[in-house]
Amino acid sequence: MSHLLASGIGDTTRISYASDPALEVEDALELLYCLELRERVGVDLIACPTCGRIQVDLFTLVQEVRKALAEHIELPIKVAVMGCIVNGPGEAEGADVAIFAGDRRGIIYVQGEKVANVPEENILAALLDECQKFQDKVRRGEAKLGEKVVDIIPPDPIGELGSGVDKIVSGNVEKVTKLTVSGE
Ligand code: SF4
Repeated sequence: MSHLLASGIGDTTRISYASDPALEVEDALELLYCLELRERVGVDLIACPTCGRIQVDLFTLVQEVRKALAEHIELPIKVAVMGCIVNGPGEAEGADVAIFAGDRRGIIYVQGEKVANVPEENILAALLDECQKFQDKVRRGEAKLGEKVVDIIPPDPIGELGSGVDKIVSGNVEKVTKLTVSGE
């Protein structure tokens, strides 16, 4: 179908699911946005497919993020929701706003700059807040969509996202750092 549409063949798109028909419209629109056959309205949301590395409920988070951003963001901001810091930064390249989940926490970046590190229960609110602030900046002419090349340096998984087992048990960052160094 994409090949036909990209070749300029077809005037009507119809996708059928044995599910909520609203999804058919959403996905048909997304197909046209991705093929650049229609100007995007609202957020361009990227989410990782998830794997064994995730430590938050990413499926639920992505659905909540999609709903909240659809209600509050009108500009085509590119937003990435990634399950980990291992491959997430690479996969989020090009995003205006990105969140990387860790051990029940999330770190948020806006155009490559870290702006927040919040517990899992606050990720949605913090991400929406950052997207709204960024949208306002763009509207005031203080930022441009996709202006900066996103070059995100992965945060230290032990120090910031607390995925070190010893740190979780003891809450002692220094101890984990020393263990890491002596084990090298
Ligand atoms: S970003 Fe991380 S959690 Fe998501 S699929 Fe890639 S490696 Fe897995």
